[in-house]
Amino acid sequence: MKKNKVFLIPAVLLLLCWQGVWSMVQGNSKDSGLPVPPGAGNLPRPDGAPGNLVVLDWAGFKGAVSYTYDDAQPSHIDHYPELQATGVRMTFYFSSNVNWIPNSDAVWRQAVQDGHEIGNHTASHPYANMTGGIWGTTLQTPLAEIDACTEYIIQNFGQPAVWTMAAPYGDVGWKEAAKSRVFLNRGVGGGTIAPNDNSDPFNLPSYMANEGDTAEIFNKLIDAARTDGRWLILLYHTINPTRDNWYAPVEITEITKSIEHAKAWGDVWIDTVANIGAYWMGQKILTAATPTRTGDELSWTWTLPEHFPKGKFLRVRVDGGTLKQGGKALEWKANGYYEVALDAGALTLVP
Ligand SMILES: [Zn+2]
Repeated sequence: MKKNKVFLIPAVLLLLCWQGVWSMVQGNSKDSGLPVPPGAGNLPRPDGAPGNLVVLDWAGFKGAVSYTYDDAQPSHIDHYPELQATGVRMTFYFSSNVNWIPNSDAVWRQAVQDGHEIGNHTASHPYANMTGGIWGTTLQTPLAEIDACTEYIIQNFGQPAVWTMAAPYGDVGWKEAAKSRVFLNRGVGGGTIAPNDNSDPFNLPSYMANEGDTAEIFNKLIDAARTDGRWLILLYHTINPTRDNWYAPVEITEITKSIEHAKAWGDVWIDTVANIGAYWMGQKILTAATPTRTGDELSWTWTLPEHFPKGKFLRVRVDGGTLKQGGKALEWKANGYYEVALDAGALTLVP
């Protein structure tokens, strides 16, 4: 007993110190978690008339891309090291009844630690009418299917919450259930998403890769999204080479070549559906908020939807004045923006 306590106290102290050092090392990136867009980093703080609040599209990048992988397939697990080596955060849509695949839990736990998103693809992968389930026993209701998968992810992979889902088979029948459990649901219909547009958050469009698609196809889509200032969501099923070809296999080298192509632009934001989606939705919410004026002060308030991820930020500009949240002035970032905490739900601009 006594011996245990002696060991426990230094261990706790060490842990606290380590966390303190770690948060210092992370520095600014911990503030917003957003990647830094290209720029000289020497832009002066605007000193014009206070007003003209503008949210930067895609956190200051020209366009955005999310790489998503459905069904938590053996080939995703086998090729995880190559995907992780790209240094890009991605979204893996997991069905909890496929946890029988070798290394499944260990790889997805690691993926969460590496900053990837594990999204909900239900427990047994049925249609919304509860037919067509592939894995194990299909539960009674769509909500039960989503809840079982979310619970598994939180308990086994260490992700604090599950923010997005992908409807099995892209079945739009999942929309209603998705609305009460996640803030975004990815569909399979083609198309891309623009800032402040009316894309359906519960049936987000994506490009579903076909068997044998090459980097050339993905690169063209990426370039178009960048040129048009839009968000492209790519959807992959099986990754080749593999002994487990489940559906529409694409070579790993074609995927990683396209990631390198997107990275090479330098002004394309590549991130998870939850991260880019929170920015897209947050921008819509703040842009739609009408400010109220009290004397010299302008104030915006907003409410985030349920299941919106915590700790998310927007990048904004004003012509001049001081932006404040919680009574504290926001720091001007020399790449050309202030960072607004969405959790705060309020923003003021004073001369
Ligand atoms: Zn699926």
